[in-house]
Amino acid sequence: MIVALLGLIAFAPQVNADIAAAERPNIIFIYSDDHAEAAVSACGSEITRTPRLDELAAQGVRFSQSFVANSICGPARATILTGLHSHANGRVSNGTPFRDDLPSWPKLLLDSGYRTAMYGKWHLPTDPNGFGDWGKVSSYYTRGVQTAEGFIERRGYSTDLITDLSLEWIDGQPKDQPFAIWINYHASHRTWLPATRYLGLFDDHDIPEPPTLFPDFGGKSPAAALTQMRISEDLFPAYDLKLPVTGDQILDRAAENRMAPMTKEQRAAWDDAYGLKNAAFAEASLEGQALVRWKYQRYIKDYLRCVAAIDENVGRITDFLDEKGMADNTILIYTSDQGFFLGENGWYDKRWMYEPALRTPLFIRWPSQIPAGLVDDHLVQNIDIAPTILDWAGVDAPEGMHGHSLVSLVCGAAPLEWRDAIYYHYQEYNEGRTAHRVAEHDGVRTTYDKLIRVYRHDAWEYYDLRSDPYEEHNRINDPEVADRVATLKARLAEFKVEFDDQTGKPYRGPELDED
Ligand code: CA
Repeated sequence: MIVALLGLIAFAPQVNADIAAAERPNIIFIYSDDHAEAAVSACGSEITRTPRLDELAAQGVRFSQSFVANSICGPARATILTGLHSHANGRVSNGTPFRDDLPSWPKLLLDSGYRTAMYGKWHLPTDPNGFGDWGKVSSYYTRGVQTAEGFIERRGYSTDLITDLSLEWIDGQPKDQPFAIWINYHASHRTWLPATRYLGLFDDHDIPEPPTLFPDFGGKSPAAALTQMRISEDLFPAYDLKLPVTGDQILDRAAENRMAPMTKEQRAAWDDAYGLKNAAFAEASLEGQALVRWKYQRYIKDYLRCVAAIDENVGRITDFLDEKGMADNTILIYTSDQGFFLGENGWYDKRWMYEPALRTPLFIRWPSQIPAGLVDDHLVQNIDIAPTILDWAGVDAPEGMHGHSLVSLVCGAAPLEWRDAIYYHYQEYNEGRTAHRVAEHDGVRTTYDKLIRVYRHDAWEYYDLRSDPYEEHNRINDPEVADRVATLKARLAEFKVEFDDQTGKPYRGPELDED
């Protein structure tokens, strides 16, 4: 019965096999790191404005229900490449191997006649594969770029530098051959080092606080309160908050090392900006909630300053395409590897299946094919990116990719049936200092509600997002929703079978649990 109601829907990949090589579109895939929807004004941000991203979203399609499969950096990249959930591509956490032998969209595009490149953050244990040219750039202030031929010195602010490298590469491509490039920004990842030109942004006002900055975890699984990504406790003074060094040798050195590539002028601007603010902070001797509120302001302003440079550089890319007359034949995709907590639940970071980390912005612009101003409300996930890129490039998607092409949603008639839920599985648990101690969990998210199984603690959570958008009221034991919970528990078991996920703690459904 449940299968009949919520039945798994089989999709055949759409193929544009007869597309002539000369007509195949260029593809620019812009990927930021930890950029939450709450920091994009096109997605309704109440704390900042992102005019160039809003422009991009308005010129094409914005997906209003866009999610990730495993909210963490390395696994998200492996999923983007392969169109597979983490257990199938090996990269279930930042510490596990990536199955580089699997088909990926860059390999398939390269083999089919595309020129391919990747510039920016990589975060997989193998070197980029399937990219004719690549350069790895990490951190914010950087000395240069790691290429297949070695390290090339080129100092700069990474969000600017990655854009420079990418536009230079695009400009050098032959006009009679399509290209695909993955532009991988390090921003807005911890530890949120703004470009010096944005150091004064937001100095004139406080950023609004989320309603759950001071959370009550009473109804949640024990895992929520054990999570170590509290703005109140877990941001390091020098490393995260740009306060004077503390005497912790490792963290103080890390805080200094990330600024070592700065020029003298950049370092002077930096010290000027934070020096005055830190003196005022020391003078105030804040405690309790006032101290947490100060930490939130320091954190969120630096985060949003990093986002400002992303927004500016996305504008540089769209301006470049317009100036070169390339816009009509170039697909531009913008998304982030996952969302981020911007003070919700009192947290920074990601990992949890709660909305701020599960959701991710997704915009696609292709002026000649996608109507401007489109908002698509289907449930889409980062497993869909690879089959979508392949579909538009006229390349058959390999058998077994978990995602589905989004092409039919935005070009032509939308399909009568689409997935009615997404599957999520996070399993990086580490007692170590920087891994945040987020317990392993999996679950199901539909158009309006969510079931989470925190299997380390044998605990379940259920939220109705229509009445509880901040997921403050766990209704797992509410008799009024017992039938719905049972339905979603069965659906989780179906996903385990559909995707053949045997990692983590086994789960075969409510019937077997009752034996
Ligand atoms: Ca990330």
